[in-house]
Amino acid sequence: MPLIPIPHSKPAIKPGDIKRVSQILQSGLIAQGRNVLDFEEKISRYFQVKGAVATNSGTSALHLALLALDIGPGDEVIIPSFVCSALLNPIAYVGAKPRIADVNPDDFNISISDIKKKLSRKTKAIIVPHMFGCPAEIRSILRLGVPVIEDCAQSIGADYEGKKAGSFGLLSICSFYATKVMTTGEGGMVLSNQKKLLDKIRDLRAYDNAIDYKIRHNYKMTDFQAGLGLSQLAHLPEFIRRRKDIAGRFHREFADLAFDIPHVRSPRDHIYFRYVIKLRQGQKEWMKKLNHKGIQAVPPVFKPLHQYVRQMSCPVSDELMNQCVSIPIYPNLTDKQVQYMVGCIRESFKSG
Ligand SMILES: *Cc1c(COP(=O)(O)O)cnc(C)c1O
Repeated sequence: MPLIPIPHSKPAIKPGDIKRVSQILQSGLIAQGRNVLDFEEKISRYFQVKGAVATNSGTSALHLALLALDIGPGDEVIIPSFVCSALLNPIAYVGAKPRIADVNPDDFNISISDIKKKLSRKTKAIIVPHMFGCPAEIRSILRLGVPVIEDCAQSIGADYEGKKAGSFGLLSICSFYATKVMTTGEGGMVLSNQKKLLDKIRDLRAYDNAIDYKIRHNYKMTDFQAGLGLSQLAHLPEFIRRRKDIAGRFHREFADLAFDIPHVRSPRDHIYFRYVIKLRQGQKEWMKKLNHKGIQAVPPVFKPLHQYVRQMSCPVSDELMNQCVSIPIYPNLTDKQVQYMVGCIRESFKSG
């Protein structure tokens, strides 16, 4: 059996991306400049929101979003348990307290009924990540009347009711980390329809040229990163098409196997940032089996957040930790690699 190493994730960098970045490097104007402005403008147009502010990461975008809402000590922010620890840090930066809500067993997104249990007079915001590329039930969450920060780090391009997920919340953030839907190496963005919030975020992003003194940050994106972002954004529709094609193939090939495949309901559109399956048993052994075949399969979340901060148990999240496996899916997987994955995965179920 030939060993085809298929990493779990991988960026899709095109020759045009490299050309664009080197042109900007050669120009000598590499700090935040007109490419960043252009990238902000194009992203806000893509999401159909009033404005966007580019940052150097999704984490700093979340930090600025919390600061824009004046969240600080004594305040609480609700976040889901089944997500990476990137959500805990910005809440700690501002001195607020995270309240961890459980997730839904079918779409892995934050559970509305559990949000309701975690709401208090101190709740100042809910951060809602659209997990693995599938929009959360944002409409019902908005109805709770608490400011919502949509986290689109995994869902750029996913639609909800025919509009972009990320255009519903008071604020939204993106991440352009190397292995996200589209990349600038490291990078992020805050989106909003409220000019006042965007102005505040722009002010807090950089320390220079301010007439007063207060704590500001250096969260700026460079112009060559923005150049990469612009070039990647042009490829985004094709990236998403390819992700959906591969997911479609997986759906068909895996329909009869003994695990649950990702499951979406209209009006939500899944862009398959991750293809997360739910095994009924033997998760660890199965991952090992695939890894032996050169296919890097991993748990989709490293550790559920309630376990880090020792909050009340989130039973669904705990169960998902023992069942879920994320298998490679990204635009530059070749048909041959997809075929190889399908073969190995079908085979692994035949042999028990
Ligand atoms: C990756 C990620 C982040 C953090 O983004 P960085 O750019 O790595 O700081 C935040 N939220 C979610 C849901 C993510 O997947």
